[in-house]
Parts: sequence; structure tokens; C-alpha cells
Amino acid sequence: MDFRSDTFTKPTPAMLETMLKAPIGDDVFSEDPSVNELEARMSALFGMEAALYCPSGTMSNQIAIKVHTQPGDEVICSSLAHVYIYEGGGIAFNAGAQVRPLEGDRGMITAADVEAAINPDDVHKARTSLVCLENTSNRGGGCCYNWEEIEKIKAVCTEHGLKLHLDGARLFNALLATGQTAAQYGQVFDSISVCLNKGLGCPMGSVLLGSKTFIKEARRVRKKLGGGMRQAGFMAATGIYALEHHVERLADDHTHAKMIAAALLEQTFVGHMLPVETNILIFEVHGGWTPVKFRDYLEREGIRVMAISTTQVRIVLHLDITPEMVEKTIAAIRTMA
Ligand SMILES: *Cc1c(COP(=O)(O)O)cnc(C)c1O
Repeated sequence: MDFRSDTFTKPTPAMLETMLKAPIGDDVFSEDPSVNELEARMSALFGMEAALYCPSGTMSNQIAIKVHTQPGDEVICSSLAHVYIYEGGGIAFNAGAQVRPLEGDRGMITAADVEAAINPDDVHKARTSLVCLENTSNRGGGCCYNWEEIEKIKAVCTEHGLKLHLDGARLFNALLATGQTAAQYGQVFDSISVCLNKGLGCPMGSVLLGSKTFIKEARRVRKKLGGGMRQAGFMAATGIYALEHHVERLADDHTHAKMIAAALLEQTFVGHMLPVETNILIFEVHGGWTPVKFRDYLEREGIRVMAISTTQVRIVLHLDITPEMVEKTIAAIRTMA
């Protein structure tokens, strides 16, 4: 029972079967029918002109940042943003840009924060050219942006000539939790990356969305990074399968997350828990417990969770966690004192 991350999912038998039957070709020549279909479906769903299948969400984000910026530019994002804290310094390495991290709330920033962080047109200052948002916010405990705030941030970007990128690794979780649509997001963002390798259950892959001119350039950068893949259709087919079969069920993960949260909050040793909005729980433990002790206790029960700091534990729900596993986990939590 692996609750460490929704990246631990393994392809279902039906997904594997889809892979075996996938029509394939050389995607570097844009001749892989399965990749082309996945890209077409995603761009249609978001109402965006074009899409690009990438090996990982990190590569999708890094390509987008590289295309939207020039070396020496400044990128505004939350201090908890994946693009800033979990991509190996990629913004500096790949784009030669620097980051203006904003404190924000649970990984989310406001239009007012963004506006205040834009540098004036002054030779002393880096040119601000891009804003990156993350929805849901991973380090923010899977929380979801308020749609009106996103529209306000877009207005600030338009006024100041900034591009707006969305790290939508778990965007489908946010759409289900908030009732917004993919098309709404497609209208507001210059580019969006969506992971297939998280709760959607694919072994790998991410799709980057944007305008035709943006994606043309993104395809060039993907090649430069070594991300041009040949018969990638075997993998892209898992994405098509996941769009058809694994999106709606993300709501089950949200229900499971709330059930486990309720059991935890009955325990006096569980301290502050970030509001549980989707499939991620982040909470503090104290009393006789540390995150490591908590993790090791559950591990002996066959339940794996992650100690993500000296005070916090993370539990993530996903496709491979069944209702029975949730019940067993709740029972195990109740044995802790
Ligand atoms: C997982 C994740 C990514 C991309 O991760 P990869 O493992 O490179 O696919 C990007 N952003 C967020 C918020 C994530 O959680």
C-alpha cells in the first residue's frame, strides 16, 4: 500500500493491452499516430491550438520556461513551486533565467503579489517576462486556486506584457474539485503542462499545450534537451487510455483522502493539517511521534507514507489504492496512540 506519491501507480492490465495494440511511428518525424492522437485530444479538450508529448512534467515545464524567456529574465512563482524547488535548478540551467519566489499561501500567489513583484523597466533590474502558477499545488497539500484569482493574475500579465504558464501536473484533480473546465484554463494560459504519470496512472509522460507558434518552438527545445522520442506511441496510448478511463475516478481519491484525514484528526498527536482539497494530505505529528517514527510504524503494517520534513508527513491517494486499502489504513491509524 504505497501512499508516498501518485507517481507509484503501475499500468493496469487494460492499459498494458492498449499499449500492445497501439499504432506507432517515428514521433521525431511527427509520424506516430498514437502521439498525434494524444496531442490532438488534449489540445481539443483545452481549446488550445497545439500540444506536445514530453517524457516528463519537468521537461514540459522547463521547455515552456525556456520558450517564454530570454537568459537573464526573471520568472515569478511561489517559493513552493515545483519549477523552483523540485526541478534541479533547471530554470537557471536550461533557460538561464532567475526566479523571483513569492511567499504566497500553500504554493498559491495572488494578483497583488505578482503585480508588486514585476520589475520596473530599469537597466539595474532583470526583465520580468513570465509568471508560473501551479494547480493543484503539490507542496501546498494539493490545494486548488480560486478561479477569480487566476483571472486577476491573467489581467496583470496582459497589462504588463508577461506570459503566463501553468504547471498543471495535477490539473485534472483541480478541475474535478472545483468544477472549472479544461477549456476555461485553455483560454487564460499561454501554456499548460499536464502530467499523465501521476493520478492518471501512466508509466510516463506529460503533455505541453499552447499556441501553434509556441509548440513549434517547444518541439525544437524538446529535441535539444534530448526529449525527441521515436515510437513513443506505446506510451502515448496509455495517455489516451487514461483520458478515457482514469479522469473521473480521481474523485474517488479525493473521497479517500478526506476519509483518512478524518481518522487522523481524531488522534491527539496529529497537529496542523493543510486543508484536504484533492488527493494529498500534509500534516504535522507530535507528542511521542516524529514523521520518521510515524512512517516506520505504518511501514510495519505494510503501509508506506512519506516523511517530508522534520515535522510533516505526506499521504497521497491514487489509482492503485483501493477502498479496502483505505479501510486497512484507517484501522492501522486507530491503533496508534
Ligand atoms: C510531479 C510534478 C511535476 C513533474 O514531475 P515529473 O516527475 O518530471 O513528471 C511537475 N509539477 C508538479 C507540481 C508535480 O507534482
